[in-house]
Amino acid sequence: MNGASLLDIKNLRTSFRMSDGVVQAVRGVSLSVRRGEFLGIVGESGCGKSVTMLSVMGLLPENAAMKADVLAFDGKDLLRASPREKRSIRGDEIGMIFQDPMTSLDPLYTIGNQLMEPLRIHAKMSAREAARRAAEMLEMVGISSPASRLKQYPHEFSGGMRQRVMIAIAMSCNPKLLIADEPTTALDVTIQAQILELMKEMKEKSGTAVALITHDLGVIASVCSRVAVMYGGLIVEEGECGAIFYDPLHPYTKGLLASISGMGDGKRKKLAPIPGSPPDLMNPPDGCPFTARCAYAMKICAAASPRFTNIGGHSAACWLLRERRAA
Ligand code: SF4
Repeated sequence: MNGASLLDIKNLRTSFRMSDGVVQAVRGVSLSVRRGEFLGIVGESGCGKSVTMLSVMGLLPENAAMKADVLAFDGKDLLRASPREKRSIRGDEIGMIFQDPMTSLDPLYTIGNQLMEPLRIHAKMSAREAARRAAEMLEMVGISSPASRLKQYPHEFSGGMRQRVMIAIAMSCNPKLLIADEPTTALDVTIQAQILELMKEMKEKSGTAVALITHDLGVIASVCSRVAVMYGGLIVEEGECGAIFYDPLHPYTKGLLASISGMGDGKRKKLAPIPGSPPDLMNPPDGCPFTARCAYAMKICAAASPRFTNIGGHSAACWLLRERRAA
């Protein structure tokens, strides 16, 4: 494993058995998350970004099949870990937050109960210690009057506050990695910016690495240091945030960037989306998955998969780059 890597994924393949065939949702993803970094994983819905992280977490449904050459977290081989070891890693070392905190918070239990549970189970704290830590965590995520808030139920919190609670729960056991799957999609723009800022702050305070899954490149621009762009079950471009935004290599990344404007001025507006639709992963195409939508497609694109080419410190899988590098 790379010395700086916390999570190493090599050649991950995840598929789902459906009544009418098999969906090849992830088709050979290799990716690492470095210690303490803020990595963005971006792509349209159905590109495999969430399935990649659910595969890492061992949270796939029963109709899924997963294979990988390497799946290692902090030196532990997740491919050989028992279900019990995986559960313990999930609770202690990897935290996760999702788009809709209402589906993750139990409406029947108080916020205090839900914050204290992982502290009692994973950090083995006494009830008193857990209550103190729960109040501290609420305060840390910007919720005032934590002592009385702990006694309230999820429906008494706004959407943004519930997401703050989820961040508090996910961070309460000091995880080494926080996986955040579209954590701000359901929130309005102002609250979205506050939650992203909070995640960045928590990362800086605790040194936790964050893998942020989103369909929105604008979200990535505001917090991430490195980006992996996914399309059709594959990573198509990867590199430092600045390199991807100022010199995107892959036509799909260029299309994603062209579809948003005014990033950073707080008034992002959606421009024309990329024409066409993503490939059918029940019958994935040979060659480059972007061929059908790519304005630069050549004969070779449909016939053979492009390999990664590294240019200027970041890399992408596109046949055009072979020529650019040779030039
Ligand atoms: Fe377009 Fe071909 Fe590059 Fe794919 S490999 S992005 S189809 S030019």
